[in-house]
Amino acid sequence: MKLTMLGTGNAMVTECYNTCFVLSEGQRHFLVDGGGGNTLLRQLKGAEIDWRNIEGIFVTHKHIDHVLGIIWMLRMICQNMNGNKYEGEVRIYAHDEVIGLIDQMAQMLLPEKQSRFIGQRVHLISVSDGERRSILGREIAFFDIQSTKAKQFGFTMYFDDGKKLTCCGDEPYNSCNEAYAANSTWLLHEAFCLSSEAEIYHPYEKHHSTVKDACQLAEKLQVKNLLLYHTEDENLLHRKKLYEREGAAYFSGNLYVPEDLEVIQI
Ligand SMILES: [Zn+2]
Repeated sequence: MKLTMLGTGNAMVTECYNTCFVLSEGQRHFLVDGGGGNTLLRQLKGAEIDWRNIEGIFVTHKHIDHVLGIIWMLRMICQNMNGNKYEGEVRIYAHDEVIGLIDQMAQMLLPEKQSRFIGQRVHLISVSDGERRSILGREIAFFDIQSTKAKQFGFTMYFDDGKKLTCCGDEPYNSCNEAYAANSTWLLHEAFCLSSEAEIYHPYEKHHSTVKDACQLAEKLQVKNLLLYHTEDENLLHRKKLYEREGAAYFSGNLYVPEDLEVIQI
């Protein structure tokens, strides 16, 4: 499988795209979050991912840097369904509140000739805490991260050989999700900034972590590969090098600080 980071930034970035990514098995794709808008379509194009082959979408929570790109996906899909240029069906997974919001936005923002496909060939699927589904032929468990800001779910994808990939969404790991995150082969976790720059960026005020925090956590959870995202964008040119350098002191596994459109084999 491969993972393509479409965006790696936090909500307010302007130098890169908001955090969202695609898991791919050959030409079959699973999109996680949509970023804040139409740039999603550009990033998919840049990654050479055919949006027609996105068969599943998961939306972690309702913040606009994650959900608004989904409206653009819906428009693309429904417009092409209406023009007979899209053959398949698509499944959008999220917790009940986000599903209700997406449904409402689509009904209010898209013309009826597009929104009519919702419920027909665009399936809005509300998932509960601990619920398991099969996506891209893999088992996925969704879990509530118990956010105090806006209800948010993460997920773990299980692979045949006992390996697993866990996405904690865009907030710090919550110990109530230990069964999912511990011993993950891959852990996708937010890191707003370097610990050495915490006084500049104030990650804790925003309920985010530093690179050091995320790396200490991954070490404790015996994670093999840690991927950091949802960062500030002041120094993107050197972000990878600086974050990897700080993280290496606290995490003995493989640390990834991807750029937008970077592809990682998992
Ligand atoms: Zn966010």
